Amino acid sequence: MANPTDKVILFDASKCTGCRACQVACKNWNQRGYTETNNNGTFENPLQLTSQAWMRILFNEPEDRPKSDDDLYWFFTKYQCMHCTDATCVKVCPSGATKKYKLSSDEGDGYVVRTDAKQCIGCNYCVATCPFQACRYSEKDKAVDRCVMCFDRTSNAADAFPVPEQGSPDLSKAKEAVPTRNGPACVQTCTAAALTFGAREDMIAKAEARVAVLKKERAVDAQLYGVDELNGLHYIYILEDAPSKYGLPENPTVPAGVTLWQALVKPGAPWGGIALVGMAAAAGVGYVINKRNEGLEREQGGE
Ligand code: SF4
Ligand code: SF4
Ligand code: SF4
Repeated sequence: MANPTDKVILFDASKCTGCRACQVACKNWNQRGYTETNNNGTFENPLQLTSQAWMRILFNEPEDRPKSDDDLYWFFTKYQCMHCTDATCVKVCPSGATKKYKLSSDEGDGYVVRTDAKQCIGCNYCVATCPFQACRYSEKDKAVDRCVMCFDRTSNAADAFPVPEQGSPDLSKAKEAVPTRNGPACVQTCTAAALTFGAREDMIAKAEARVAVLKKERAVDAQLYGVDELNGLHYIYILEDAPSKYGLPENPTVPAGVTLWQALVKPGAPWGGIALVGMAAAAGVGYVINKRNEGLEREQGGE
């Protein structure tokens, strides 16, 4: 289970106004480029996460809420890599390029998932098997990108993070520009106070108190998301209805095929030296490769 002192981002969907300032701040701070998109009748833009768009706001229109022309209603969701404790992308990476890092010098597992561009072999297995479809491969940078929890703004151990030659911002300049780090860019820019950054135990306590208020004052089915999923996400959500209404998977899991892949293929089998044993291993490999192909098609459609 996630460490109670891990830093997390708390997203209160009941306060979000869908302004997307956080989306812009993420792009701005992390020096992401733009990709051309088309208007297809929704307020969402972009329609998918890409290697240039690490987060986006979903505009979910609940069908069972009363609506009229002048009474639009959305469930907004801040969507990005969830920095899962049980991270499929880390389990499946055959080259060791995708790892967890810490935002402090505390003991224990790291929790910010990053991909080292120098080690990434572009297999796309992490892209294909992520339960949230939250990481994306960049052909240009030859590496996988995702929300990095703004570790260059939030860590007191940023020097310990390897800086890829490609695919990520110039962190040394970022540190010079902001000597006092003020939390993730998306959190700092949110004027609706829908985003808070802090220790996991504190954020969960705050979220539980808010859920109690929402149940009492709005009579909604308020609930938390991210506390137990995949042994704890590093984004905690306050929702006013079921996760599926917000475009979030109800029960994200590490697929069985990934577990087989990790247990039978990955250990001691560096890329190019894989020894497959029996049907179980073949099933795991087949699962990961099929998912990879699906993911590549998705990425091509998204950019
Ligand atoms: S900046 Fe805040 S209010 Fe605006 S979309 Fe992001 S989370 Fe919602
Ligand atoms: S959301 Fe996907 S990319 Fe992010 S840590 Fe979890 S498995 Fe990895
Ligand atoms: S924490 Fe940083 S990288 Fe992640 S969504 Fe927020 S601004 Fe983007």
